[in-house]
Amino acid sequence: MISKTITLTGHNYIGTTPSAKGSTTFQTFNPQTNSNNPTVFHEASSEEINRAVALASSAFEQFKTIDGARKAAFLRAIAEEIMNLGDDLIDTYCSETGLPEGRAKGERGRTVFQLQSFADLVAEGAWVEATIDTAIPDRTPAPKPDLRRMNVPIGPVVVFGASNFPLAYSTAGGDTAAALAAGCPVIVKSHPMHAGTGELVASAISKAAQRTEMPEGVFSNLNSSGIEVGQQLVQHAQVKAVGFTGSIKGGRALLDLAAKRPEPIPVFAEMGSINPVILLPDALKTRGIELAKTYANSITLGTGQFCTNPGLLLAIEDPSLDAFINTLASELLEIAPSCMLHPNIKKAYDTNKERLTSQSEVTVIAEYTESLQTNYAGQVISKVTGSQFIANPTLHHEVFGPSSLIVVCKDKQELESVVANLEGQLTGTILGNNLEINEYNYLLSLLSNKVGRIIFNGVPTGVEVCPSMVHGGPYPSSTDARFSAVGTSSIKRWVRPFSYQNWPNELLPIELKNENSLGILRLVNNVLTNDHI
Ligand code: NAP
Repeated sequence: MISKTITLTGHNYIGTTPSAKGSTTFQTFNPQTNSNNPTVFHEASSEEINRAVALASSAFEQFKTIDGARKAAFLRAIAEEIMNLGDDLIDTYCSETGLPEGRAKGERGRTVFQLQSFADLVAEGAWVEATIDTAIPDRTPAPKPDLRRMNVPIGPVVVFGASNFPLAYSTAGGDTAAALAAGCPVIVKSHPMHAGTGELVASAISKAAQRTEMPEGVFSNLNSSGIEVGQQLVQHAQVKAVGFTGSIKGGRALLDLAAKRPEPIPVFAEMGSINPVILLPDALKTRGIELAKTYANSITLGTGQFCTNPGLLLAIEDPSLDAFINTLASELLEIAPSCMLHPNIKKAYDTNKERLTSQSEVTVIAEYTESLQTNYAGQVISKVTGSQFIANPTLHHEVFGPSSLIVVCKDKQELESVVANLEGQLTGTILGNNLEINEYNYLLSLLSNKVGRIIFNGVPTGVEVCPSMVHGGPYPSSTDARFSAVGTSSIKRWVRPFSYQNWPNELLPIELKNENSLGILRLVNNVLTNDHI
């Protein structure tokens, strides 16, 4: 590892130029020491926002024509420059999040892997989904034209950094990597809780852009301490799409803002989720104790600050469920509480936890309350019946943090009703034995209508980065259930299909030319083939 000491400046990156014209300043906060970090960050001014968007818009004209090999080199250079930041990046990450070094390094590894995966994807080239229908000049009654279709980049994209993934879903995270891979310039609205981590990663992207001779403005990083910078960006006429990870309230506000523009644009928002877990009776009887231990860990992992945290456990009443709940309670209280990302996140956790547990029908089963350090969260599990859950919408809201609600149903029909009454979710999990699953086909069908990913005998926390992953789901877990925010398929959010009709071969893009010199898989006259025409 290259270790050096980089001084944070608190500047924005407008293209590759550091800039600090705004008069609003802010600092990030170390929740472990309960004190401000020293760097003073400058919020981007309106003029800086306009400049970043204008640069992105002019960069787009060149960037969209850059071939897959050069885009891949750019993405790989970003990964290298992130690693070159060495311990400075890890130290800054930890000081701005309260998360441990191991998590910082793990997330850096995931970020680099995502960049490399998109580099491989665009270097290979078939992701454009080239589709060719050759002409039939003698077709009657009218000749058939030659039509050739492929995915093309949509234009400049605004990416909102996520509070709980300062690396993997922020400055050079999945949304940015996918948009750059597609050929879209990116303007990041940095998350104010980890602006220093964002600045370091932005400096790495800036170096990589210069090293690989990308057009100026292909990437900008804008600081903000409030919602105005994001609002201005989403309303900017030259911005063509938005990627967001955060709360339902924030995502929905941006979706509405984008829809009200003279030219509405897509907002791909990944938002809150309570990730129902269904415990089937046989599994509870044979493996209840083991499952309770596993779930105590999943509920508290990362202080519960994962969008895939298991916030809801559903089961049918039975003595084996009581044994599961007792073990879950004792295991949960054995786990040492950990630090939340920021006092505001801790405050929101306390408020939402209180709102849930103060509902008259809710029984608290176990809550860690002993000598909590400042900004540390006490884990809690509570219980309601199926009918109570259905009747009270407050119980359906996400409590972002280490909290889980157990819903005890009187029978299979009530369990089905509970699932039918859920909002859209990122994930659903079934804990069951193979033989009993067949008795629950209707329940599985109801659950699959509600979720983007269904897990068998596992935990929802832990999102694999691979092409078959779906991280998204019906509203309100995301604003568009047709797309994933994780994995290489997420590139599809940043493209639009485009057709050439009767275009001369020499003027077509390389992916659509007769010779298929890239050797990519294409759909030619309804046959998938690598052949030339
Ligand atoms: P947040 O409050 O929604 O903030 C996210 C970002 O959006 C911040 O930069 C915030 O700006 C901005 N923002 C919020 N409301 C806005 C508005 N009305 N207009 C313009 N910008 C706005 O979320 P958070 O507290 O950082 O994150 C926690 C939430 O994220 C949880 O609900 C969690 O489930 C969700 N999450 C979802 C996923 C997923 O993949 N589905 C992953 C991780 C987290 P300011 O901070 O400057 O106000």
